[in-house]
Amino acid sequence: AKNNGRNTWQFYSAALHENAAQRIQLESQLRLALERGEFLLHYQPKLDLAGGSISGFEALLRWQHPQRGLVPPLEFISILEDTGLILPVGEWVIGEVCRQLGAWAAAGLPVPPVAINLSARQLQQADLAELIERIVVGAGVDPGLLEFELTESMLMVNPEAAVAILSRIKALGMRLSVDDFGTGYSSLAYLKRFPLDALKIDRTFVRDLPDDPDDAAITKAVIRLAHSLSLKVVAEGVENIAQLRELEQYDCDEIQGYYVSRPLPAADCVALLERAEQA
Ligand code: C2E
Ligand code: CA
Ligand code: CA
Ligand code: CA
Repeated sequence: AKNNGRNTWQFYSAALHENAAQRIQLESQLRLALERGEFLLHYQPKLDLAGGSISGFEALLRWQHPQRGLVPPLEFISILEDTGLILPVGEWVIGEVCRQLGAWAAAGLPVPPVAINLSARQLQQADLAELIERIVVGAGVDPGLLEFELTESMLMVNPEAAVAILSRIKALGMRLSVDDFGTGYSSLAYLKRFPLDALKIDRTFVRDLPDDPDDAAITKAVIRLAHSLSLKVVAEGVENIAQLRELEQYDCDEIQGYYVSRPLPAADCVALLERAEQA
């Protein structure tokens, strides 16, 4: 048993070491990724349930790694955040969305609103609103086409500072939404202090609809309360028609998820936009 225990220890020790080494290697690769142009954005559409049309997209970060291929954000966002690299990368995301909106406009396509995810580190920058303004004005993009997604926990770190920054972003004409709603610690009444436009109900509440009565009750109540506070509601992670129908019955405004579409490269969004234009 002792021997066994030692082997087990060695196993874990080796695994940990490998993990730390991997993390350091990832970190140095991520430092270079920005200058090498290895980041890209995919765009996932949101469907307006009442109108049946695409109401906009969410920009989602990807890393085109030279050996590993397309790496999803959950494998590197925390490293970007821990190292502060999320600040220049986050700035790149905003600039890239503006560039893409300009390219769609230049191609004569109907230009959709695009939502951008912000990280806690970005919201800690007192001059975030001014930074966003410089990028958007510089790119000549209509601010009304941009939306920013924030999580409840991000808002609760320093609510006073967050209200000040978000009010300035809002005054620029951009929209604000709460991401992953229901997973953090906050109340809708408290959220009313922030100049928000929409709530995105986390996909953990959507997953077991329509069968789970608790999730159904929570989702229904959140939608009703949000509406009474004049907030729009987007349901995340909708993967099938049964979930869509249920959310429609609850008067949910928009849905996002694999049922409508996976996140797409910008080039594949064009077909969706052209179809929407014809409809
Ligand atoms: P999120 O903001 O909650 O984004 C939604 C995630 O759910 C995306 O994962 C999307 O691909 C996935 N998803 C969409 N529909 C479905 C569905 O029907 N079923 C399931 N199971 N999943 C679905 P992704 O692209 O891997 O992004 C993961 C997270 O990484 C995002 O979660 C967000 O927190 C973060 N992230 C992505 N891009 C950025 C960025 O540019 N900046 C920052 N700070 N964070 C980002
Ligand atoms: Ca999001
Ligand atoms: Ca989300
Ligand atoms: Ca998230």
